[in-house]
Parts: sequence; structure tokens; C-alpha cells
Amino acid sequence: MKGLVLDAKWDPRPDYPLSEWEKQTGKAITGNSVWRYPTLEVRDWPDPEPGPQEVVLAVQACGVCGSDMHFYETDEEHYILYPGLTKFPTILGHEFSGKVVATGKAVTTLKVGDMVTVEEMIWCGRCIPCRNGYPNHCTNLEELGFTIPGAFANYIAVDEKFCWKIDAIAERLGSEEKAYELGALTEPTCVAYNAMIERAGGFRPGHYVSVFGTGSIGLACVGLARAAGAGIIAAFEISPQRRELAKLVGADYVYDPREVNPGDVLMELSKGEGFNFHVEAAGVPHLVIPEMEKALAINAKVVQIGRAAQRVPMYLESFQVRRAQAFGAQGHSGHETFPNVIRLVASGRLDLSPIITSRYGLAQTVDAIAKSTTRADGKILVKPNYKLEIRS
Ligand SMILES: [Zn+2]
Ligand SMILES: [Zn+2]
Repeated sequence: MKGLVLDAKWDPRPDYPLSEWEKQTGKAITGNSVWRYPTLEVRDWPDPEPGPQEVVLAVQACGVCGSDMHFYETDEEHYILYPGLTKFPTILGHEFSGKVVATGKAVTTLKVGDMVTVEEMIWCGRCIPCRNGYPNHCTNLEELGFTIPGAFANYIAVDEKFCWKIDAIAERLGSEEKAYELGALTEPTCVAYNAMIERAGGFRPGHYVSVFGTGSIGLACVGLARAAGAGIIAAFEISPQRRELAKLVGADYVYDPREVNPGDVLMELSKGEGFNFHVEAAGVPHLVIPEMEKALAINAKVVQIGRAAQRVPMYLESFQVRRAQAFGAQGHSGHETFPNVIRLVASGRLDLSPIITSRYGLAQTVDAIAKSTTRADGKILVKPNYKLEIRS
């Protein structure tokens, strides 16, 4: 089969303290301190065979994520920009849907022909955080498309326990192709759901919600806020195209944060009461949190989704005076998140289809990632098996 393979040179920066674990496993904990001179190429890769508990999927749609862009872009010393757990060479791609084309001997929950989407986080189920019910904090984590082969490929093998059926979406839409496209949005939407609903405990219908940054996860946050009954949704985003997408999925007001003072805008919209629920999905909390602080309703919640390896100035006095809370969130697994997001999409109450702005074939995956660096798209999809029949 073919897959988009990322290779790079293992060349730890002189000041990076490489751990024994990293040396033994060949995995870098802080990718941008270790991997240099990345190359991306669609090339041959062995066809996956299913292990006893695995299924092989013919990948139908796989979204380009910001992290894929951060493998393509490098700093001035040619290191990748992505700061997380990584092991190369591997196939990229982790936001996907596919059709089951082969099943391992011990598989009991899926059969050939089933339509599924898949978790990206391959949690072990054996470490202390997993056993305590926190798979998003697994200490033996593998990640599809980061440390093990992902889904910018014709096929992928995954354990059945990470797969969630999306047949209900196809039944509602009357279109398998559309269901696969929406299915590929499930993973980023689950990141938004995990942060807003699981970690921060959600908000009351009628509450006012702000979303800073409307890349695909921020757009999913806007859609979820609408589905959950927000009174007003205000979004801040520098890309004019993404501001339009935010309106399409439910934002009542959109602003370029360089042209307004976001905190003042939120106080005006709420007639001085402040916003109840604030989402940081821009990855620039040092700029965003001080604006949120100006507009905290009593009992306000602030949830951090964007990743940023930096300290943030926080004025805790305003959290005391406004009885406010801040939540950190990562991941998408566990806590009923995948099935509930699939239910919302299948019911029609969450329709993120407007955010899909481009589609590419597998051979053009590098072009798809290059397009994402313009940061104007909502979600770019690669569709590796658009016309492929079930593999015999
Ligand atoms: Zn992603
Ligand atoms: Zn674990």
C-alpha cells in the first residue's frame, strides 16, 4: 500500500537532556528538540495484517491537523515545530474514519463492512492513570500518526477497542461518503467535548460562551456550545475565512482580536455581567487569558485546550472576586466522549460539515498539508480510498 511517511534525523539539540527511556525506545518526548530535517513523501509501506484483536480499516477520510502542519514546518535550525511525543519514520494522520476490511481471530465487536472512527490515543489500560479511569493521561501512550503508523494511508490496523461505529451517522444522512467525512471530524470534536464537558463540567443552557481561536478544534467548540444551548457565542479569530466558518457553525459574533479589545467586547455583549464560559483554543494563552480575566461572570469557567510551552500571566485576584475556575484539558478518550459526539452528529444537533473546506487524494497529501500552512481552511480532508472496494 501507499502512505505518507515522515522521516527525520534523530539529532538532539546540544542543550536537550535526552533520557534513558528516550534512548532505549527511540521515542522523543519533546519532538522539536530531537527531530531534524524532516522529509514527507507518499511511498510504499507494508500492508498491515491484523493482530488477534485488531481490525484492518480501508481509510476513507483523514483530516489534516495542526500537528501535521508542525511536522512540515521547521524552525531556522531545521527542527520540526511539533513539541510532543514522536517516533519516526512513521505514517502521519490521526483524525480518520474507515471501513473494516479484515478482522483478527479474537475480534468480537466488529465485522467486515462496519463503518468506524478511531481514537488517536492508544492507551494501555494497565498503567495507574488508565486503571483509575484517566486514559487521557496514560503513561504508556502510543499515538497513531505520531509514534506508530497513522491513517494518511490506504490501510491501517488498530485494536477493536479504539474503534467506534458511525453507522448511525450514515443512516441519518443517507450517504456513506458523507458519514465518513463527518466521521473524520470526530477526533478533534472529542478533544473539544472532553475539554468543555468532561473536564470543565459544561455550562448551563443560556450561559454566554467565548471561544478564542477557531481552527478546527475551536470550530468544534463553537458547534458544541450551540448544541449545548449557549445564550451567546462570541468567537475571536485572526483569519477572516475561519471567522466566516465560525458563524456557519453557530457563533453569534466574530471578531478579529487585533482590531478590538476582546475583554471589553465581552463585557459590552453581556451588559457588564461577564461571560460564563471561556475557551482558549488559540494556543496563545499569554495573550488570551488576560482578556478573559476582564470578562469573568460570577462562577465563570476558563478551559485551556490550546498547547503552549510558556508561562502565562494570571491575575488570581479576579478569579477570587468572580468565584472563577480554570481547567486544563488534554485528549479525547474515555468518559463516554466518542459515543456522545457520534450521537450528537447522528441526531443532526451538531453539524460541522461546513468546516470541511478542501479534499485531496492520498497522492496529494503533501499538498494538503502545505495548504494547511496558509491557516485559512477549516478542515482539509485526505480521502485515500475514495473509489476503492472492500479488499478481498
Ligand atoms: Zn490532531
Ligand atoms: Zn495507560
